[in-house]
Amino acid sequence: MKILVTGGAGFIGSHVAEAAIEAGHQVLVVDDLSNGRTENLPTNADFHPIDIRDKDVLRELVVHFKPDAISHHAAQASVTVSVREPLLDAEVNVLGSLNVANVALECGSRLIFSSTGGALYGEVPEGQAAGEDWPALPLSPYACSKASFELYLRAYGQSNGLRYTILRYANVYGPRQDPHGEAGVVSIFLQRLLRGEPVQVNARATPGDDGCVRDYVYVRDSVRANLAAFEGALDGRTINIASGVATTTRALAEQLVQLVDKPAIVNDGPYRAGDLERSVLDPAVMISMLGEPTPLERGLTATTEWFRSHMQSS
Ligand code: NAD
Repeated sequence: MKILVTGGAGFIGSHVAEAAIEAGHQVLVVDDLSNGRTENLPTNADFHPIDIRDKDVLRELVVHFKPDAISHHAAQASVTVSVREPLLDAEVNVLGSLNVANVALECGSRLIFSSTGGALYGEVPEGQAAGEDWPALPLSPYACSKASFELYLRAYGQSNGLRYTILRYANVYGPRQDPHGEAGVVSIFLQRLLRGEPVQVNARATPGDDGCVRDYVYVRDSVRANLAAFEGALDGRTINIASGVATTTRALAEQLVQLVDKPAIVNDGPYRAGDLERSVLDPAVMISMLGEPTPLERGLTATTEWFRSHMQSS
């Protein structure tokens, strides 16, 4: 198959591009390198440094390639930046994404959209996990732009027959992870611990508060979902890509300290207003269609080894 990966020089997109090449697909990568890096690109990918907002340039390239499927990862992917620059966020995540949807329609390509489960559902009450049928309660411009493009996809599917899949990622972690992304804490902690620097758990100064609760999912699970979606197995679906496991920042820090196996200092930091307190997703649909998620310990072990060898060689 011919696969276009937008944002393929970024963290998740580069893993998707790499796996698609390994699976024998012909891969074209588009990325404006605003956050991605050419070092992330798989060796056999055909790369074009294009901004998805540049609709004519994008269209010319993609119509010529005529992909069977588009894995759409290019995005302004930072919640913090979206709060500071909501217009930029909407320009890339809504208008840029519409350029991608329009060219998908023109080429008859499947469109696989990287949405967010981590930000879309808002606060998830203690003891619960957000299923795909939960209402979207965006609390940031980033979550608004992702929710908005989901609605466009549904409308394009209904009115124009666009074949699409919406993957709502939880907090994705793994090799090549960018410290500024939604699950950036894994890469921040690992880099600091491997350098022998202290890490900080931001939490309320009340007994039993161990920081935010998050659902960490290994990047390989996002990749599996994309590969299945290319084949049409997830057409019309909206699926949480998640582990369903609630992990506090302190528990994460403790696991990473053990894996790094060096003397470590874990400090208490100030509570950060504005952070979601608890975000955990229900992975039942994903499990039924794609199998079990990678256990946290296995994913963190692989990620630690990657950062260890990568930091030694750089
Ligand atoms: P990333 O920043 O590493 O990757 C995004 C890529 O898009 C970058 O390489 C960047 O250079 C590129 N890009 C940005 N604006 C562009 C533009 N205008 N034109 C072309 N390319 C552009 O982020 P990531 O963590 O790999 O996230 C990939 C996707 O998954 C994003 O859509 C993000 O919103 C979504 N997502 C990520 C997570 C997570 O935990 N990392 C969770 C939920 C959803």
